Amino acid sequence: MLDNYDVIVIGAGPGGYVAAIRCAQLGLKTACIDNQVNPQGEPSLGGTCLNVGCIPSKALLDSSEQFYRLMHQFSLHGIRYENAFMDVDAMQERKRGIVNGLTGGISQLFKANGITSVHGFGRLMSRNAVNVLDRSGQVTATLSARDIILAPGSVPVEIPAAPIDREFVVDSTGALEFSRVPRRLGVIGAGVIGLELGSVWNRLGSEVVILEALDEFLSIADHEVAREAKRRFTRQGLDIQLGSRVSKVEYGAEGVILHYARKDVSRTVEVDRVIIAVGRRPATEGLLAADSGVMVDGSGFVEVDENCRTSIRNVWAVGDAVRGPMLAHKGSEEGMAVAERIAGGKAHVDFNCVPWVIYTSPEIAWVGRTERQLKEAGREVSTGSFPFAATGRARAMEEAYGFVKMIADKSTDRLLGVHMIGPHVSELVNECVLAMEFQASSEDLARTIHAHPTLSEAVHEAALAVDKRAIHRAN
Ligand code: FAD
Ligand code: AMP
Repeated sequence: MLDNYDVIVIGAGPGGYVAAIRCAQLGLKTACIDNQVNPQGEPSLGGTCLNVGCIPSKALLDSSEQFYRLMHQFSLHGIRYENAFMDVDAMQERKRGIVNGLTGGISQLFKANGITSVHGFGRLMSRNAVNVLDRSGQVTATLSARDIILAPGSVPVEIPAAPIDREFVVDSTGALEFSRVPRRLGVIGAGVIGLELGSVWNRLGSEVVILEALDEFLSIADHEVAREAKRRFTRQGLDIQLGSRVSKVEYGAEGVILHYARKDVSRTVEVDRVIIAVGRRPATEGLLAADSGVMVDGSGFVEVDENCRTSIRNVWAVGDAVRGPMLAHKGSEEGMAVAERIAGGKAHVDFNCVPWVIYTSPEIAWVGRTERQLKEAGREVSTGSFPFAATGRARAMEEAYGFVKMIADKSTDRLLGVHMIGPHVSELVNECVLAMEFQASSEDLARTIHAHPTLSEAVHEAALAVDKRAIHRAN
């Protein structure tokens, strides 16, 4: 069977499914091949993000946050209760319902847009042909298209020191499935995923130790934000051990013994469960026939130019499998842009305006560059900060912690980066993304009216603070 399309997309994560929908909207005959299955073994669109990433993790983060508030913060509002406990089965059932609703929603969108959804593993055979393979590796179909978009996403990195056994030692997927709260939990890697998943189980009562090989905490974030985050996470009970490289896992009578070295001293810690969260790698194994002509770098990333074009002109690649941050919205933007280009239009993705969010409590969010990156690049900058504690809304919410820090060019005042830690900053950051997209100055934000009392007043005041004229704090 040889089916002909204008576009074939391999992978139905946020990079691939968004690309497929946009292609279909633009009148292109589109097929999308994906091999993800749900725990029942049924095809499930939406990729890592909807099935085992962004969405289930946020569902559990929200449940655990509600529980934590009930136990630690509701009494501040005068709310009294007795005998509260977390029903982990019900929490997991809620998460599954959300995932099923959203993944089913992608199937509906595919149908509504006339996209052919093909379940199986896609392999690029030549510049115009893709084989579909079943689980046993048998070719079940060959499809052809004028343009092909590769969006295979990524999978967790494994380390030989701590092989995944799916029971005691798990990856991020396993950590979303615990059926009870581990008494002691080890997390290897203090990156975004390690911090989020460590937070979930810590809020539900686990004693959590996070072992991180690097000496610096959250080196990707602004240093002042990272310092405040470390302070607050430690206060919440996360035991963050920096400069600690795990070398071996041993099974003990009561759990797992993690061997690690800190400052050249060998140490051990015993835990019930271990989450490996040491990063993700592109899922490009088997994606390309040996003579497909598409270039892959030494780490398995598909090589692309700034327009997501691979070494073959009509083959494109987007999302986690190409350079840049492994974030769902970055892949989706690339997917939409590629669809526009295939349809003959123009598109542009400003990689400097990709927001980052860490959904811990407090949340951390930023856009643009950090003060350190700018200084290293020799840029002269002005900065302005404003604490949420000085906003009425954060106080009324009992969430008066964290701050907004704005960085602008010293001579032109153009916004170069905005960094925040505090309540709902995952939402607040988007105002700053828009400002940066429009090449705004800090003065533009300073002259924009922000509703009172809202958390966004901290963004307004940080903009005023760049020019040392914040109102509700001494400059
Ligand atoms: P994916 O979502 O990985 O989708 C790729 C799809 O292609 C998968 O379904 C895969 O099975 C399929 N596939 C792969 N190869 C083939 C093939 N050859 N043939 C057919 N199908 C194939 N990002 C955020 O922005 N915000 C968050 O809050 C966030 N939280 C996360 C939490 C966790 C626990 C994890 C693990 C990740 C999180 N991420 C988050 C990252 C986010 O999930 C990824 O950046 C995003 O899913 C990447 O999208 P993608 O389309 O490139 O690939
Ligand atoms: P990220 O790539 O943001 O998910 O972060 C993964 C983190 O895991 C990085 O900060 C790594 O330094 C850390 N890491 C990798 N290998 C180990 C190891 N063997 N022991 C402890 N931390 C590790």
